[in-house]
Parts: sequence; C-alpha cells; structure tokens
Amino acid sequence: MPTLLARNAEVLVTMDGGRRELKNAGLYAEDGIIRQVGPTAELPVTADVVIDLAGQICLPGFVNTHHHLNQTLTRNFPGAQNNNLFPWLKTLYRAWARTDEEASRASTLVGLAELALSGCTTVFDHSYVFKNGNNVDCQIEAARELGMRFHASRGSMSLGESKGGLPPDDCVEEEPAILKDSQRVIERYHDPSVGSMTRIVLAPCSPFSVSAALLKESAAMARHYKVRLHTHLCETLDEERYTLERFQRRPVDWMETLGWLGDDVWFAHAIHVDDDEIARFAATGCGAAHCPCSNMRLGSGIAPIKKYMAAGVKVGLGVDGSASNDASNMLLEARQAMLLARLRLGLLPPEGPRKYMFLSPSHPIRSEEWMTAREALELATIGGAGVLGRTDIGSLEPGKCADFFTLDLETIGYAGALHDPVAAVLFCAPQQAKTTVVNGRIIVRDGEIVTMDIRPVIAHHNRCAARLREG
Ligand code: ZN
Repeated sequence: MPTLLARNAEVLVTMDGGRRELKNAGLYAEDGIIRQVGPTAELPVTADVVIDLAGQICLPGFVNTHHHLNQTLTRNFPGAQNNNLFPWLKTLYRAWARTDEEASRASTLVGLAELALSGCTTVFDHSYVFKNGNNVDCQIEAARELGMRFHASRGSMSLGESKGGLPPDDCVEEEPAILKDSQRVIERYHDPSVGSMTRIVLAPCSPFSVSAALLKESAAMARHYKVRLHTHLCETLDEERYTLERFQRRPVDWMETLGWLGDDVWFAHAIHVDDDEIARFAATGCGAAHCPCSNMRLGSGIAPIKKYMAAGVKVGLGVDGSASNDASNMLLEARQAMLLARLRLGLLPPEGPRKYMFLSPSHPIRSEEWMTAREALELATIGGAGVLGRTDIGSLEPGKCADFFTLDLETIGYAGALHDPVAAVLFCAPQQAKTTVVNGRIIVRDGEIVTMDIRPVIAHHNRCAARLREG
C-alpha cells in the first residue's frame, strides 16, 4: 500500500466543516486516501514518498466544473476574438467538427496539464462535437496517462440549422447514434465508487442545439444509470429570446418541462436568472458552474453568485473554453470570480433585472455582500465537489482523496502579503503550482509536469491547431 507524507507546510487550508487553516502542518495518505491531517509534529515521520512543503501553502485540489478541453486547439481563433456567444459559436463550429482523435488527445493533455499547473486535480470536460473520429475514449485515456481525476461527458448536438438550431447541419449527429454511444461509454467507463478517477456525464450542449426529445431521453438514460446531467443554460439574452420565441418559455421553465431540474443536474453559466429561478435551483438541488473569464470574454453578463450562495444553491467554478477564456487556469478563475462579484455590487438594474448601469461610487455596500478570497476558494474546491456530486474530494480530511496542491510563498508575487497567505493566493497574481498531487500521485513537482514529457505534446498540439485553422 503506497504511502505519502507531505509535511512542514507554512499553512494548510483544510476546507473541512470548521474551515480550519493549520500552521506548520501536513497530511499522511495511504493508497491515495488521506489518513491524517494535522501539525507536522503529530504526523508519521516516514512514508514511501515524502514531500517537504517548507515555505509553501497547501490547499485542496481545485475542482473544475465546466470546460471544453478540445477548444485549446482554437484559442485566440481568427474571427472569434471580438464577438458574443452566437456569432462566436458560428465562427468556430466547423473547426471543432474537424477535430479528430489525434487532435482530441493532444488538446485533452494540454488542457489538463495546464490545469494541473494551476492547482486543479479534478476536471469535468464538456465535449459535445463528436465528428471526424473524435471520441470520449481517447480523452479518458489521456487523463489516465497524465493522472488527473476526470469526469468526461458524452455531450451532443442534434439540432442543425435546417431544424431551427444554431449549428450547421454538418456539425450535428443523429440522435440514435448519440444515445447508443452514450450508453456505451457509461457502461464501459463510469465508476461511481469512492475515490473514482473516471466518471461519465451526459451533457447535451444547449437548448438551441439539441432537440426536446434528446434532452428528455438523455435525462432518462442518465437516471437509469445514475450518472449526472449537464448543459449550458441562461448564458446569454440571445438564448433567452430563442426559448421564448420557440417554446414560449424562459430557459429554466423550458428545462423544467423536460425533467431537467434536480439534484443530479448542473448548468454552466446560469447568468440570466430571476429570483424565482434561483429559489427553484435551491429547492431542486440544481447546481451552477460559474465561468467568470468566459462571461467577460464574450460579454455574456455577470452571474448572481452571492445570491446563489445566500439561497443555498450549489456553485462551483469552471474555466470554460479554452476558446472563450483562453486559459485553463483555475487560480486565475477563482481570482476573477472574486473580482467579478465585486464589480456586480457596483451595478444596479435601472429598468428590469437584466439591464445594468453603474451606481455612483458613494453607493453603500454591506460587508457581507463582498465576495471574499476564502469564499472564492471555497467555490473552487468544496463547492465544485458538491456540484459534481462528490463527497470524497474538495477538502483535506481523513477519508478523502489525497488531492492537493501547493504554492511557493517565498516568491516575488506574494512579497508583502504574507500576514494572510490564504487571502494572498487570490489577491495577488496567480502563480504556478509548485506541487500538485492527485490520488496520492505527484503530477507536478517544482512547477513541472512529471508524469509525462509534455513538450512534444505541445508541439504536436500546435500542429493540430494549425490544421484545424486552415480547414
Ligand atoms: Zn461551455
């Protein structure tokens, strides 16, 4: 049974029920499961692998609740730098549909490696374009090779332009084929056990790219196999206009008629919601993946995260993209979540809930309205775990998975901020993880990926990206 000892951390953030932050602390794990967390002096003195965390802060591994790893191939894409969601999608759909297995594998590795370097240990990926030989299998294989905890999606698009959807007809799949492959990947890969490294999620893309029938059938299949459901929702006012015109319902009402409100569901973005919809998310247990960078990049709006938190809605963070971010950096995302929640405080709806204007700077803001650094870290860790339906990750406690990362506090980026190193993690500029451990295995050591040689993968990824751009 392989053992791991991490000791001498300047501070260790547990994210346990008491939100304890321990000084000169560490943890001891057996077989990827934490057995002890506490002051270094109280931990065992030897293990198969010993990591010295002197001068570092240790945090639970971040949980990324929304991403499209394949989009690392289309970062900063020509013609898709300065537009909002619908025209941005229309610029990119065909490039995504050209993604083959080889490109998918390279982009999955690149995206996951970048995430690991930003402290992320569990990733949900929302892949939904499976044309040209792309498949879930190569992504799962890549995640296993790198050593990341991976929730893969068998996503889908079935509603092409000719049927009133947004994507071109040649970018969507036939529904029977989607359902057949969904069943195949669940049966082959989904592992519901404690400490699971691989889970499957059914994730039809959005109300404007998937039919009502497929949304219903996906929900029925997910519930039969007890896997989770995910889609994009309430991301833009264009989407809201689409469902109002086509179905005479707001997006949340539309999803409710399809059986899509429940504690096994979470929605990406969830920006344009009213107070009643927030209450329904709380009552039904629906979660939200907050993607602040993407929401700013596409000018989508500002999700009411503090309202969600006050109402008891489960919220995690997602980097989204990487064509709408264009980074896979969870530390950056947590910082942006904190900052964007603050910007929202300075805005007021003058004539309805979805039009904003700036208030005068003298507008009083109560202290509990500010999103703190610790709250943003909570969203990135234990919050994300809840959204993914996991009780075995998100905090550093005995019985939980040994997923954590560290940051070197003795660097220029934190100079002058060390009276509160936990808050410094988000108030100061995002730094690269010094160490990242997933399931008791070191993935990042001294700021470098050590489970594979990532340099040739990057070079290959750049060649694949060029091919997609050129068509
Ligand atoms: Zn997305």
